[in-house]
Amino acid sequence: MFDKILIANRGEIALRILRAAKELGIATVAVHSTADADAMHVRLADESVCIGPPAARDSYLNIPSIIAACEITGADAVHPGYGFLSENARFAEVLAHHNIGFIGPKAEHIRIMGDKIEAKRTAKRLGIPCVPGSEGGVEDPEEAKRIAAEIGYPVLVKAASGGGGRGMKVARSEADLEQALGMARTEAKAAFGDDAVYLEKYLEKPRHIEVQVLGDGRGKAVHLAERDCSLQRRHQKVWEEGGSPALNADMRAEIGGICARAMQELQYLGAGTVEFLYEDGKFYFIEMNTRIQVEHPVTEMITGIDLVNEQIRVAAGLPLSMTQDEIKVEGHAIECRINAEHPATFRPSPGLITYFHPPGGLGVRVDSAVFQGYRIPPNYDSLIGKLIVHGRTRNECLMRLRRALDEFVVDGVDTTLPLFRTLVRNPDVQNGEYDIHWLEKFLADGGLDEPSTP
Ligand code: ADP
Repeated sequence: MFDKILIANRGEIALRILRAAKELGIATVAVHSTADADAMHVRLADESVCIGPPAARDSYLNIPSIIAACEITGADAVHPGYGFLSENARFAEVLAHHNIGFIGPKAEHIRIMGDKIEAKRTAKRLGIPCVPGSEGGVEDPEEAKRIAAEIGYPVLVKAASGGGGRGMKVARSEADLEQALGMARTEAKAAFGDDAVYLEKYLEKPRHIEVQVLGDGRGKAVHLAERDCSLQRRHQKVWEEGGSPALNADMRAEIGGICARAMQELQYLGAGTVEFLYEDGKFYFIEMNTRIQVEHPVTEMITGIDLVNEQIRVAAGLPLSMTQDEIKVEGHAIECRINAEHPATFRPSPGLITYFHPPGGLGVRVDSAVFQGYRIPPNYDSLIGKLIVHGRTRNECLMRLRRALDEFVVDGVDTTLPLFRTLVRNPDVQNGEYDIHWLEKFLADGGLDEPSTP
């Protein structure tokens, strides 16, 4: 097992990793930018190293500084969290070169899944169902027209290096296609420095359902059921739950089994998420994330398994601590991403938190690194905490969530709490009747004009 882990991240996920490391008896090193000198992850770690100025590219993304921090402190492994360097294959290779462990998948798997065309090809080979589309990248508009006619309109033009929903354009007919192709290419080039795009059938009303997997890197792999992340705004997840209101136990076992077998064949190492769109009873692979995800606590609440602990164990060469048969889904869990943003305009709201009172009680978990008197810097993501609630049934979970949201007080900055207070009272949300477009429509129709207050 590792003796000392350096956490190459900040915010709530840095705390989450710190907790798992402490429970394993492993020493911790925090790294931070000058903007985060007073942050909670720095206060709680055994040691800390300042790695640069506020801009992420000069600190949290600065590989030489992070390697130097490992060498100064004698850390023998790095946990990258999510975002930043978590899906950077080169970072994993540089660490290996310095004999430092990477708490994440093998570099080759990060690389394959980071290229969506390659990822889809691999998924197909492993027997995972995919969205109908082009076999590889598409350059020529005439070729694109031929493929689109085959798969049928509407089609989606997607960037091969895409992320965060950027570089995607819908074409409803042949007349739209050339322009969609050009726009997706330009956007992809600007955002990712790579203008490769491919085509996919555009699904009109799918749900986003993803399967959590864990592998030991030597051919043993399990699935830990699914999360439904259909409530999204601008392709960003807002509310996540598990299990999906659209699946039953048999469907869960079937899609989970397909993913687990694929990961066994790949000899996948660590935690990963296989993401699908789900429409009319069918699953369509869209991508795989080779890291711990923001919404991982949903799975922890329904399985009782500490995913970060498992990540650390398998990265150190230990076996998974459980078999598939031992993984049981109990009850229901929902996560709300609390952002420091205006609840209706979603304008970021950094600044001083003058009062902070998180909810508590049975089945309530708050993963957050903020506190009263903390100043949210303007340099990073606006996520300030996650409220995760568990209940024996989905209904109990919803009632508990409503209660917990009403207890939650954050003063000094705007937060998205009022959005969740409205959502938890909405009949469609209560009935689990939503697809990936539901939230955007709800907001466009003025669903938040009279936000619920506790
Ligand atoms: P990113 O890496 O940018 O997040 P994804 O491939 O995961 O890209 O897609 C993000 C979101 O875009 C999905 O959750 C879904 O809302 C939408 N999307 C992606 N592919 C399709 C498709 N073929 N049809 C309809 N919507 C899609």
